[in-house]
Amino acid sequence: MKHLFFKGVRLTGSTVPADHSITSWTPSRVVVPLLPREIGLVPVGTAVKKGALLGEEGGFAPENGVVTEYREILHPILGKVFCAVMELHPKSEKKKSKKYALRGAHNREDILQAVRQAGIINESTGEYLWKELETWFQEPPAYVAADLLEDDPLCGAGAALFISDREKVLQGMEYLASALPGVPRKMVWNSRWMEENRETMPSKYQLRLTGRYPAWVLYLQKTGDTAVRIGIQALAAMTEAVEEGIPQTHTVVTVSGEMLPHPGRYWVPVGTPVGELLTHCGVGARPCQAVMGEALTGQAVLDPDTPITVSTRGITVWTPQKARLDDRAFPCIGCGKCQSVCPQGLEPWVVQEALGLDPVPERMLWRVEGCSQCGVCRAVCPSGIDLTACMKQAAELRKRGGLT
Ligand code: SF4
Ligand code: SF4
Repeated sequence: MKHLFFKGVRLTGSTVPADHSITSWTPSRVVVPLLPREIGLVPVGTAVKKGALLGEEGGFAPENGVVTEYREILHPILGKVFCAVMELHPKSEKKKSKKYALRGAHNREDILQAVRQAGIINESTGEYLWKELETWFQEPPAYVAADLLEDDPLCGAGAALFISDREKVLQGMEYLASALPGVPRKMVWNSRWMEENRETMPSKYQLRLTGRYPAWVLYLQKTGDTAVRIGIQALAAMTEAVEEGIPQTHTVVTVSGEMLPHPGRYWVPVGTPVGELLTHCGVGARPCQAVMGEALTGQAVLDPDTPITVSTRGITVWTPQKARLDDRAFPCIGCGKCQSVCPQGLEPWVVQEALGLDPVPERMLWRVEGCSQCGVCRAVCPSGIDLTACMKQAAELRKRGGLT
């Protein structure tokens, strides 16, 4: 599964999608998160059209359908979220193959407003794109990198999306230039497949990294660049928002793991319940342990109605027995692996030792704020210690102050 390097790990496996195709699938119902607050709700029983706002402050109907109820869900990444449940009656639409003429100059304010109204999330960071564009305008990064990375094979869909919707994504790069005048743009990739498809990327944008995880963090650590990432999905959504006023209603999720007969990438409505998608993928009613998020940092899904959001990049499914084995933890044996792989040059073993002392000595929590929560240290620890959680706890302790 993983090979060790001086920094980072290489993740591989036979339970990931065999190719770069994306399959479109629509469930019979969706559970749409309404963020940030539950006001101005559409009444239960109302028929709504695709793209309609379900709450005054956000949450779009991803397809035509009827609102059947509102309920709270414990989401493994977002915490408690208030959601609209909809029965879907999708209208069959012919897929339009539109040509984009790469129009560059555009009004910055118009782009920001379109991105905001469309509720676009940058899937590489999980943040609202309009907020990030504002921040990047105030404090320009060295460059913005369109994210085609596949260092995490259980999540990476950027490359597949780029190849399937190239013109729309490249037009999004032009709008990005108008929103952030003077900030250079790149396309960052690391897979052999993108190397073979290199001619599809304009040569002026190309930036190739090594294949190991976490490739982006390792690269920034090495170069000292203050660069930022934008998802391929966000770029395509930006084009649709600016040119057609279409909100972001769908997302790509990679579904993989040993329990799946056919791992794959699915284009689904936002709010698709994890349980319905897994049933469609062939898991059926068998007991399973599903994890949502990246390979090394994912969280267990406890409710089959947990909605897929734009920032859900992967779902991995194991048998419960395997998942239980992975939960075991033993005392630190001082092997030093966690320190050698950390892309930020931190010492997780020292931090976990410090947390076991009373009082916790601050000098042992050196630079814990620099932790990117990549999960590599936890993955390589032979004792199974949750070092990522230790780093997070230590950073919170430091922030609170009062340590000796
Ligand atoms: S989770 Fe933090 S401490 Fe662990 S390897 Fe990643 S950056 Fe280093
Ligand atoms: S990898 Fe685990 S066992 Fe090894 S030094 Fe780090 S915390 Fe200890």
